[in-house]
Amino acid sequence: MQNIYYKTATTALTKNNKMAKRNKIAAIAAMKCPRCREGDMFYAPITQGIYKMNKECPVCKQAFELEPGFYWGAMYVGYGLSGGYMLSTVSAMLFFLNWSVEAAFAVSILGGIVIFPLIARLARVIWINIYVGYDKNYVKILNKAESKNVETASSDK
Ligand SMILES: [Zn+2]
Repeated sequence: MQNIYYKTATTALTKNNKMAKRNKIAAIAAMKCPRCREGDMFYAPITQGIYKMNKECPVCKQAFELEPGFYWGAMYVGYGLSGGYMLSTVSAMLFFLNWSVEAAFAVSILGGIVIFPLIARLARVIWINIYVGYDKNYVKILNKAESKNVETASSDK
């Protein structure tokens, strides 16, 4: 088990031999793994399905489904985000464009057809970010793993 971890960690190191390039907001917007901010959380474009999510991070192997039903809670985040979307677009059209209530809601809901799937994904990314933080020592752990691998390899002979 440990060996597998070190092996994948070393592979990740050689592939991404650098510090995290993204801050938290950018990582969430790009829908990246919360721990390494490198691996993609979703493996297919949103047009091919909203919930095409990797079981674990392809780079650092962080599990994305922390427990069965983990993403039920993401619905609350999605509810907040879609509420915020509706409130801001409808009120902007009402107060800045002087549209009728009916027109404002109609356009907002039409826009929602595009926005809501995006919100559903974003809600999952934000939800897992509440539980899994960025690992500052991620690169350090990888470095250690690599030197350990070298040691084991040389002491094997
Ligand atoms: Zn990761």
